[in-house]
Amino acid sequence: MDCPRCGVRLARRRLRSVEFRRCPSCGGSWYGADKLRILKNRAAHGDYRWIDIDLWKDRRKFRSGRQEHLACAKDGQPMVTVRYGDSTIRVDICERCQGIWLDAKEYGKILRYLDRKVDAETVDGYLHDLRKEFADALAHPSRAASDLADLAKILHLLELRFVVQHAGISSALRAASRGVPGA
Ligand SMILES: [Zn+2]
Ligand SMILES: [Zn+2]
Repeated sequence: MDCPRCGVRLARRRLRSVEFRRCPSCGGSWYGADKLRILKNRAAHGDYRWIDIDLWKDRRKFRSGRQEHLACAKDGQPMVTVRYGDSTIRVDICERCQGIWLDAKEYGKILRYLDRKVDAETVDGYLHDLRKEFADALAHPSRAASDLADLAKILHLLELRFVVQHAGISSALRAASRGVPGA
């Protein structure tokens, strides 16, 4: 699987229950819909109230973004660029396989959004569990635990929003793609 931006082979990564791919060149990341599985033993992994934020919560708020026309990493279909509400975050989604592409800069925007919107206390509890788990599970001393925890936050948000809550997201995307391009 190659990067839709730069054509470089995407590196396979796995974090907890989720397998995804990341471009070693541009830092963008790809998430297959079938790989975004809900975490097992959720109750055992801290407090999930932090997920009760607006981002991607309401499928009616999906809008068409300025279309990037990136080819899906999996099947080559042109992906739809969507934005959400008044957020500046843009996500590219394949209507065929519902895979999701995040540019590196969107990844950073999501983290900043979370920083603003999420109750720090509940996230701290969640991240505390994750850090311990990563320390145990990953022989990857060069990578800061905080980076992994950030990534886990985003993965979990993607899992819940795009897989669980938005089982019917295709219709929202079709509506979004009929919207005004560049809006
Ligand atoms: Zn790339
Ligand atoms: Zn696809």
